[in-house]
Amino acid sequence: MTMSQHAARQKIVILGATGSIGRSTLDVIARHPDRFEAYAVTAHRQTDELLAIVARHSPRYAVMSDATHAKALAARIAAEGLSTRVLEGGAGLNEVASLPEVDAVMAAIVGAAGLEPTLAAARAGKKILLANKEALVMAGPIFMHAVHESGAPLLPIDSEHNAIFQCMPREHWPHTRGATQGIRRVLLTGSGGPFRTRPRAELTRVTPDEACAHPTWNMGRKISVDSATMMNKALEIIEAHWLFELPPSRIEVVVHPQSVVHSMVEYADGSVLAQMGNPDMRTPIANALAHPERIDAGVAVLDLPAIGTLTFERPDFGRFPALRLAYEVLAAGGTASAIFNAANETAVDAFLHRGLPFLAITDVIETVLDRIAAREVRELGDVLEADRTARALAAELIEASMRESR
Ligand code: NAD
Ligand code: MG
Repeated sequence: MTMSQHAARQKIVILGATGSIGRSTLDVIARHPDRFEAYAVTAHRQTDELLAIVARHSPRYAVMSDATHAKALAARIAAEGLSTRVLEGGAGLNEVASLPEVDAVMAAIVGAAGLEPTLAAARAGKKILLANKEALVMAGPIFMHAVHESGAPLLPIDSEHNAIFQCMPREHWPHTRGATQGIRRVLLTGSGGPFRTRPRAELTRVTPDEACAHPTWNMGRKISVDSATMMNKALEIIEAHWLFELPPSRIEVVVHPQSVVHSMVEYADGSVLAQMGNPDMRTPIANALAHPERIDAGVAVLDLPAIGTLTFERPDFGRFPALRLAYEVLAAGGTASAIFNAANETAVDAFLHRGLPFLAITDVIETVLDRIAAREVRELGDVLEADRTARALAAELIEASMRESR
């Protein structure tokens, strides 16, 4: 090994550093100070949390997307005599995501807010560790075009997609075109969430805390609600379609309550390759960070005898309409998936913060999809306009339904 290989620590940008994925990423990075450094960290409004991260990891840059909070953070960083530079707003996010000296960008902002900085990283040809599935759902063709143009290595963090990536033929990645040869289907596993066995009638009154009490994964609140409605699996079907360039007919969901098999690839000869592990996001994070090498992630050893039984079920499309909607959205194409995502984000926010009933989440999404026609996606503006229109209609429907129920 040459001196320079020894010396070069990879500079990692963590978009959404204060979140569940962000914190797990910092944990893996801290285990390998010889390989990686947290070069830039970002958050929306969690000033205390970001300051603690800055004090612990001494990044070169810290970005707060909310400008008022950025000023507060800068004052506190100065008061503590730290040398981290503070940037603000969307411009600050885009700037750190595309700095010339940066090696990799962990895209772990939740929701549509992650799209533009993740796209900036793709356009700059950075290695992208993609947790922010909403970016791909909203703007699949634009995002994948940017990746192909710049040659940005794209590594999936979502545990299912990382599992599929690990079970796929190596030589084609990250440009998967043609990698589907010999692949019959991918089988996306899902735990079924906290309400897997509950009758639909009993779901009318569930609270945000019940919906967020996931049986196997500990995650941010938005994705936890998505798991409870199975919108998370719906978004993942669309994510898999873009990442692996597979038609919807070759993407299937299998319910697997133990969350040990993270997904599978089925080949023409009948072989089914699965990736297993404990439900701990540090595994896919470490896999993507070090790819193609393997490093310690701090994850407990998988004790299969202790788990004993692995079970698999067909998903219930009647109780979880989100899955059916995902295939309809893919069939419609164009801006349909941006509309789908925007309606979901708006409804989940209303469920978490304003008392929208749980079952109304998918009702709102379905009505928004019925009322807004999908258009062709030619540029980012088409996606952003669909996003705005869908949010506005979803907000109106939510208002109307809450007025009725008062
Ligand atoms: P989280 O809510 O725990 O963290 C979100 C992060 O994004 C925070 O750092 C927050 O400051 C930042 N953020 C929020 N709103 C923002 C805005 N408007 N502008 C800029 N930054 C903003 O979320 P999470 O659970 O870590 O999930 C992050 C992403 O990873 C999501 O897209 C999710 O679907 C995906 N993901 C998460 C998990 C998991 O286990 N948590 C698994 C698979 C995929
Ligand atoms: Mg997942």
